[in-house]
Amino acid sequence: MGEAGLQLRAWVEYFRDLGVYDFYRRGEMVPHAAEADSDPPTQPVAIVEAVATADVPLAVEASVASFAEPLQPPAPLPEPQFMKLISFNNLAPIPAERVPQAERSAALRAIQEEIGDCTRCPLAYAGRHKIVFGDGSPTARLMFIGEGPGADEDAQGLPFVGKAGQLLNNMIAAMGLARAEVYIANIVKCRPPGNRVPETVEANTCSQFLLRQIDVVRPEVIVALGSTAATYLLGVKRSLSGLRGHWHTCRGAKLAVTYHPAFLLRDPRQKAEAWKDLQMVMAELKLTLPARK
Ligand code: URA
Repeated sequence: MGEAGLQLRAWVEYFRDLGVYDFYRRGEMVPHAAEADSDPPTQPVAIVEAVATADVPLAVEASVASFAEPLQPPAPLPEPQFMKLISFNNLAPIPAERVPQAERSAALRAIQEEIGDCTRCPLAYAGRHKIVFGDGSPTARLMFIGEGPGADEDAQGLPFVGKAGQLLNNMIAAMGLARAEVYIANIVKCRPPGNRVPETVEANTCSQFLLRQIDVVRPEVIVALGSTAATYLLGVKRSLSGLRGHWHTCRGAKLAVTYHPAFLLRDPRQKAEAWKDLQMVMAELKLTLPARK
């Protein structure tokens, strides 16, 4: 046996030690079509051939084909429903029956309990300390709705308790009312980071609870404080000047729009304009000016 034969024998014995006993000739030794009449290929080669030429599954063929095609820009995704502005009037039917006055506190508490330690929207993870549910009389004729809690409200868990809240208290007093006689809430119950405007997804997530608060209290008049509150309550984006000075509706209540107290703190010249809005509300509720002290 020559050198090559000895090497081959050592190689075969090595594989036998490993438990490999069957050896096959390579595919290139398979006869070509022209040689089909010659010796048939050994069975193992036929197996190799069969595997190599087996039908490529259609899915694989398709993916290979699409891989080869030039990339097309994806069609724009439809905007998800929950990102749309929806007026509070269109969110749900107004309940036919009012909650009896004696049951309203308990009904509001039940909503608050359902909110729990809410994690339904991103504001839950944006540094919130307290959820600001709302505050005031469950039988209020007048409801004020702001944008969202600021730092003071986030710390205390109550709406409008900071500087803007002090101005709102003065506005309420100027109408001849005590703060405890009205109901105060916000579009979102958690502080947006850096006091930014609440995103549509945040407002829409929170709206299910504010809507039920309104339906329990059933105020005669709602005052939207600022354009953010007006936008989300009415489901339209319009300038504040286009929204002020006339009545809108919200869940069976008349809705007026006025400047946000925080804006009035920055631009006190607009207080006279805000007072006109509040006088419109007073006339509707037949409130008289408090006697001067
Ligand atoms: N601004 C708001 O919109 N709401 C608050 O509760 C406080 C400040």
